Amino acid sequence: MSFPTEWRNPSLYINGIFTGARADRRFEVFNPADGTLVGSAPDAGAAETESAIAAAHAAFHGWSRQTANDRAALMRRLYDLILVHKEALAQLLTTEQGKPLAEARGEVQGGADYVLWFAEEARRVYGETIQANVPNKRLLVLKQPVGVVGAITPWNFPFSMLTRKGAPALAAGCTVVVKPAEHTPLIALAFATLVHEAGFPPGTFNVVTGSDPAPIGNALLTDARVRKISFTGSTAVGKMLMKAGADQMKKFSLELGGHAPFLVFADADLNEAVKGAIASKFRNAGQTCICANRMLVQREVASEFASRLAEAAAGLQVGPGTLPGVAIGPLIDERAVRKVQDHVEDAVAAGAKVLCGGSRVEDRSGNFFAPTVLLGVTPSMRVMTEETFGPVAPVLAFDTEEEAIRLANDTPYGLAAYAYTRDLGRAMRLADGLEYGIVGINDPTPTVVQAPFGGIKESGVGREGGKYGLEAYLELKYVSLGL
Ligand code: NAP
Repeated sequence: MSFPTEWRNPSLYINGIFTGARADRRFEVFNPADGTLVGSAPDAGAAETESAIAAAHAAFHGWSRQTANDRAALMRRLYDLILVHKEALAQLLTTEQGKPLAEARGEVQGGADYVLWFAEEARRVYGETIQANVPNKRLLVLKQPVGVVGAITPWNFPFSMLTRKGAPALAAGCTVVVKPAEHTPLIALAFATLVHEAGFPPGTFNVVTGSDPAPIGNALLTDARVRKISFTGSTAVGKMLMKAGADQMKKFSLELGGHAPFLVFADADLNEAVKGAIASKFRNAGQTCICANRMLVQREVASEFASRLAEAAAGLQVGPGTLPGVAIGPLIDERAVRKVQDHVEDAVAAGAKVLCGGSRVEDRSGNFFAPTVLLGVTPSMRVMTEETFGPVAPVLAFDTEEEAIRLANDTPYGLAAYAYTRDLGRAMRLADGLEYGIVGINDPTPTVVQAPFGGIKESGVGREGGKYGLEAYLELKYVSLGL
């Protein structure tokens, strides 16, 4: 099975209409597994973004006044349509982004789950009454949608990030202008066809694609009609957007980079720890914001853990995500391969030992890098300080729990951390002491729709998912009513 041909060369979606960019400009989209042309997307800029903002602004009045039940009914229809097209969406996702088909199916299902969950949660937005200090007043707290939302999404989870922002925004009564990543515009525009088919009012959801993010981002940041920016991507771009949005005091949700430590204590179940490390580190070829970046292992079990991890990693099949059995697809582009290679070379030059992998896969034409395990790394190596965003697992030994927590927290990032231990007291001390927005203890895959997802420190502000993800799109209004 493949995906509809029309998904290869789609149009922008603005005000409920599928339309081209000015002068019919388009940019090409390539398959990272073999460099072949997948299709093209409209190359929009400021003018098209302004049209989308105007449409979203015009639609806001009607959409925000619909009942939560009515909004939820449309979202349920959208959920059903995603499931009808699940396989085709997954095929497109793998073709455009590279991840193994099983992971792409998981991402589409996960993305659909956000739509369903927020459709249901939309009906549970409650206000409050507060005790007044005089008898003839009533104090009310109302929750109202923020307004027009600009949503900027990354290429590594181009479907689920779209719905993790779009679904709560729509559920809350906001209208949305999405700017997908340049590498993965097609899945966002395919999703727009389903939004259209579900029957959302024109202008409630708009998608603007482009090869240059600056004019689109600038239009979203400088237009006062856009009240909130929800961004997932790198810390550098997130900081730049927040600075630019400060002039208008826009609201921000920022899901940024991470540098997750993965702690393994000598009392852990080592088999489970190795399985967990494989699941956390090598999903999406290591191109996941919450994936383990640094393996910190108690000295007594460090070399055994590293050799078992290397054995398991070496067994992961590398290749195009459409091939059965493939666990590691291509990296997104040549620049990503070079960055991973640089990190490995930096570590090896400073004394790290390669237990498996260590280089790109030369017998394949795409951007493939072999799953790599490094032993004998030190805290100052690039793999231990920068987000590698590739299939590399550096292992560092520690002696005590205090040292492990200190090493784990010694980073400007604070998105996700993992720990394996069978000691309940230690598990609680780690939950308390790890300075991260998400802590997985004996759990390498903590992301679920109903829980808050997000980071502290330079990993961002705000949370997506769960009731917190809906609150991010609601403003509080206090009404003091004299009787
Ligand atoms: P990125 O370069 O920051 O890009 C993310 C998005 O921002 C893309 O749509 C990009 O567009 C856009 N963008 C770039 N410059 C912009 C500008 N001047 N104005 C407006 N938009 C702009 O990040 P990435 O390389 O795609 O994604 C990887 C990063 O995302 C990693 O650091 C990862 O950890 C992080 N991430 C975080 C989470 C989380 O939930 N915390 C989840 C997934 C990924 P173009 O593609 O057109 O450049």
